[in-house]
Amino acid sequence: MHSIYLKEGREKSVLRRHPWIFSGAIRRVDGAPECGETVAVRSADGTFLAHGAYAPESHIPVKLWNFTESEPVDEAFFRSRIASALALRRTVFHGKLPQAYRLICAESDGLPGLVADVYGEYAVCQITGAGMERHRELVGRILLDYVKGVYERSDVDSRTKDGLPARTGHLAGAELPDVLEFEENGLLYRADYRGGHKTGFYLDQRDNRRLVAECAAGAESVLNCFSYTGGFGLAALKGGAKHVLNVDSSEGALALARGNAARNGFSDDAFETKEADVFQFLRSCRDSRKSFDLIVLDPPKFAETASQKERAARAYKDVNLLAVKLLNPGGQLFTFSCSGAIDDDLFAKIVDSAASDARRPLRIVRWLSQGPDHPVLTSFPEGRYLKGLQAVAPV
Ligand code: SAH
Repeated sequence: MHSIYLKEGREKSVLRRHPWIFSGAIRRVDGAPECGETVAVRSADGTFLAHGAYAPESHIPVKLWNFTESEPVDEAFFRSRIASALALRRTVFHGKLPQAYRLICAESDGLPGLVADVYGEYAVCQITGAGMERHRELVGRILLDYVKGVYERSDVDSRTKDGLPARTGHLAGAELPDVLEFEENGLLYRADYRGGHKTGFYLDQRDNRRLVAECAAGAESVLNCFSYTGGFGLAALKGGAKHVLNVDSSEGALALARGNAARNGFSDDAFETKEADVFQFLRSCRDSRKSFDLIVLDPPKFAETASQKERAARAYKDVNLLAVKLLNPGGQLFTFSCSGAIDDDLFAKIVDSAASDARRPLRIVRWLSQGPDHPVLTSFPEGRYLKGLQAVAPV
């Protein structure tokens, strides 16, 4: 096995079990390991630190598999990591797994480059790095111990950084049916696993959808911005809201949202959709003096990287400012950011600055995050990407 030697002092993050080695930490690569090959990471004095997968073109050329010299990265390794990921889900869901959940959450489950979401009897996975790419068939085979069939949605941008082409299609076991339907919090949903975002559904918002359902009782008017396939909108109606307006720029997502609403017995009158740019739509509501009892803002990732942080912060500020102005007295705002570069403190500051400009002192009543099937390793805080606030406008 080839070895990669770190610069002096750069072993510290590995000793704390952070799973990434940045290019600036590497002093010397012994031999010429292939892209995706397992290498030994060593400190400057040659002490073994970790096994990792090598991706020479990436700014993170090594992602770490384990920290044990005697544990090879073989089938037994992948089997034990996947079993441990499932054990954690059983624990957090008290033995009763939801029909749809994230089974494997990459670094946070000790498997950099692999995401696997379960929808009923099937799994949809994403392989995002060169290391995992080498083991994709093995992983597909192991997943068949848990599900009937596995589909691959490896069409994410991060693959290009590791020099990998996009790939989608059948990976293992039975072919998936055209429709993956599942129940969540008493509602029927469909995952658009072939063409939708992520693996077809935003599983990370499960708990927040339930919270919106609980808080929507008595709401006459709900505005669900960046609605995608209507998750929060359906939850609000289920919870007792009278009317939900779902706004998204994708007519395809809205069509799926309307299908989801119909299957749950909600009428077009109660569940409306509007294809529009949310920023423009919120301005038009302001101009026509519309207002709402409950507003959800769940925008796409405005900051893909840390360098886009400032521009993203301005976009979050704009959209929150527009929304805060539309809240009825005592109205509730559920506002989210899934940009890793925007941390909780910054997000709360952005929302505060929106509230201040709108002259509507908001009170935060809950700090929200991703669900427990999206765990965060203490040594890898980067795993916590989703943050949100529930805030209430003054009466
Ligand atoms: N809240 C959703 C997930 C939102 S994903 C859920 O829980 O399932 C973000 C959505 O924002 C996508 O559907 C995308 O089509 C939409 N979107 C992105 N930019 C937009 C814009 N400027 N205006 C309206 N919708 C936008």
